[in-house]
Amino acid sequence: MKLESNGILIGLQPIGERDSVAHVFTRDFGMMHGVMRAAQIARKNKPLLAQIGAVSWNARLESQLGAFHWDAVENLSAPLMMDMHALGCMNAAFALLNALLAERESYVALYDATVAFLHDLANGNAMEKYLNWEIGLLRELGYALDLSRCANCGRGDNLDFLSPRTGRAVCRDCAAPYINKLYRLPINLDTTLHFIEMVCAQSGIDVPVARAYLSRM
Ligand SMILES: [Zn+2]
Repeated sequence: MKLESNGILIGLQPIGERDSVAHVFTRDFGMMHGVMRAAQIARKNKPLLAQIGAVSWNARLESQLGAFHWDAVENLSAPLMMDMHALGCMNAAFALLNALLAERESYVALYDATVAFLHDLANGNAMEKYLNWEIGLLRELGYALDLSRCANCGRGDNLDFLSPRTGRAVCRDCAAPYINKLYRLPINLDTTLHFIEMVCAQSGIDVPVARAYLSRM
């Protein structure tokens, strides 16, 4: 069995002295795992985190780990090396994709958004861009935050609060009786972290360290 797509290399774990198990977020097949032979010792075309490239995956049986052939086209982390915040954002995004996406389930919109996000990270305002990317991730995972109008009365102004239960905005007047139970807007990384915690709890995992760390940067 052979699968071909484009992808982002979002995880590399050494096995033995030569090979690595790679995690590739592919455009057509979502998250895939497989062995990259000689990934640790390659002198030319060494696989590196945050490369984007053409990937093919081969296995005799679909259930096997399989092996990747990887042709890197671009290294998206190279322009980020001097920017601690941008690197922190990239690591948090990769950790969440690794932890939360179902394997072999296609997330085309999220893939395209992730490539655009990584390209844009080098241009500054990393945290703000990360926040928008994470809101998109939550939408893909079934937690669509609606910040456009009040969930109770439908008004579009004075939207000062967010319901932790529904992820929808609540206006100042409607919020008055419940203020202690609501999150304050504008949304920030602590707000989205609450929803990430819910998603992780449903999957029975802890929030990845790289993401928890981001809120403290
Ligand atoms: Zn209202």
